Amino acid sequence: MSLTKDAVRAALKTVLIPSGEDVVSSGGFQWTAICDTFVSVKLHVPGIAIGGLGAIARSACSAITRAAGDAGGSIDSVIVEFVDDHGSVIHTVRQGGATSASAPASAAAPATIPASNPAPASPSTAGAPGHRPIGGLADSVPASKASAPTPQAAARPLAGVRHIIAVGAGKGGVGKSTIAVNLAIGLARQGHMVGLMDGDIYGPSLPTLLGLAGLDPVIYEGKLQPFVSHGIKSMTIGKLVDAEKPLIWRGPMAHGAFKQLAEQTSWGELDYLIIDLPPGTGDVPLTMAQLLQLSGAVVVCTPQKVAQDDAVRATRMFQQLGITVLGVVENMSHFVCEHGTEYDIFGRGGAEMMAQRLGVPFLGAVPITPALRQNSDRGDPAANFAPGTPLHDALRTLVQSLESQVALASMRQGRARPTLTIS
Ligand code: ADP
Repeated sequence: MSLTKDAVRAALKTVLIPSGEDVVSSGGFQWTAICDTFVSVKLHVPGIAIGGLGAIARSACSAITRAAGDAGGSIDSVIVEFVDDHGSVIHTVRQGGATSASAPASAAAPATIPASNPAPASPSTAGAPGHRPIGGLADSVPASKASAPTPQAAARPLAGVRHIIAVGAGKGGVGKSTIAVNLAIGLARQGHMVGLMDGDIYGPSLPTLLGLAGLDPVIYEGKLQPFVSHGIKSMTIGKLVDAEKPLIWRGPMAHGAFKQLAEQTSWGELDYLIIDLPPGTGDVPLTMAQLLQLSGAVVVCTPQKVAQDDAVRATRMFQQLGITVLGVVENMSHFVCEHGTEYDIFGRGGAEMMAQRLGVPFLGAVPITPALRQNSDRGDPAANFAPGTPLHDALRTLVQSLESQVALASMRQGRARPTLTIS
């Protein structure tokens, strides 16, 4: 297909909004990504109720599909995302793709889907003991199985904790723990009570990232007391075992260790408990999904194709476990040199495009920043939030996007209602 970004922009000039202007001239066209036969666009059209956005999305889908035809190709899926003033996704409409037949856009009515979560499917391991690896992760699942209960269905909330959020990644080394720590600190800086649990029981990194070296674990009335530093509570297996010994856990032991950290830590009242998962699609996510009722999961990915492939698997895994994917974070997105020149070392935008293709929100991008690595090695994550730095701005965007997606997910899951404030 030879559809170009310019052709998409030109197509959107035929899409009118209620003011009478077209969506491009009104300044509402923000972004487009074209990947093979998948096209995504991001629009900002303030002042229009959600109900009115559907019509705009329908004409956008039709216009883009026509443009693809004019360019001599065809497309399988168009995703139209509407964002608010802060760039957070408020509504997503998808036409085509996995959820509908590849009929021409002009004939097919777009399907309105939740911004964050295609229907979860049941893993082949549903109901199996917690130590079995998750297998058979497929892009789609037969309709007959789609309504089978997921491991999340039987999970329970953790007393006193409002939102549990897992941070996962398809592969190691992409910055999953770094992002988990900074999300936790960022949420705390927004005034929330936050806990951070090192669910990466095979390779715990919180002792280093939070600078816990001088602290000893304390047990009081039979419960582990979380460490308190940088404004958050934390617990890690790395402070309970010899840090230099390899942690070789069989499935049931890993299950037990995770359960113990989650349930036998005296977390107290928390707005958010962030769980840093091990990389990949192994035993621990299944244990977690069976045990804890989550608000959702965040997938961390670097932009390269190989990282995206693994992140797609991680996203599918969460969905098959019945966990809402709150969004994708693109870490090591690009590098800004000391003179301000930006280098797209790994192919900036790759993870965002992947998120668009999967129909899950994109939470934001974090650049490769030597200070981030240094602060992490020093165990001083609060230093990443020095105001006025690009790193601070990137992390704040991530945190704000996450807060919005958690609120949306909670409403969809029936755990929260929208509130109307009259002043
Ligand atoms: P993972 O948990 O995915 O294995 P880590 O969070 O441990 O990865 O990060 C791996 C290494 O990369 C660490 O040294 C960390 O400080 C560094 N790192 C992560 N993200 C960035 C970034 N955006 N800029 C610079 N260094 C980073």
